[in-house]
Amino acid sequence: MLAVQGDVEAHARALARASAEAVPVLRPHDLKEVEALVLPGGESTTIAKGIERLGLADALRGFPGPVLGTCAGAILLSREARNHPVPTLGLLDAVAERNAYGTQVDSFADRVDLGAAEGLADLRCVFIRAPRFAALGPGVEVLARVDRAPVLVREGRVLAATFHPELTPDPRVHTLLLGAI
Ligand code: GLN
Repeated sequence: MLAVQGDVEAHARALARASAEAVPVLRPHDLKEVEALVLPGGESTTIAKGIERLGLADALRGFPGPVLGTCAGAILLSREARNHPVPTLGLLDAVAERNAYGTQVDSFADRVDLGAAEGLADLRCVFIRAPRFAALGPGVEVLARVDRAPVLVREGRVLAATFHPELTPDPRVHTLLLGAI
């Protein structure tokens, strides 16, 4: 798990619930030790600066295994971030609009709409200053929606959630990541 900033501990607990061990990624070399990668939520500007400072961008882009980005992590995976643009990794053919639902006080939880894929029915999603996907490329599948907006998407080995699956006890999103190893 990228451990620059954000809710690293909560993801470590969520991975443990899904029977995986989390190790911090802070150097390019650390990526050789892991089978899947999580980019946690947090503050994407801060995380992007950390990626730059630690010289991690190329190693993250070249990571060959399954990747899950949540909230700020989803922003960093996208090809473009709008509303306070930030340098992104471009691993997901998506445009992410930051803070699309408002500020911290507009944080909320909701269930996914019916029709969610991959056994994700009734998934409860926690949104904290969440982004929204303003555009998705043709190769991007929508696995879950809330209020018709895509909240969990997949392009090949890359999964991105605009919510925080690590903050609910439900392990299904992390299980999806681990199942792709
Ligand atoms: N609003 C944050 C950002 O734009 C993301 C919030 C989060 O990860 N909970 O970076």
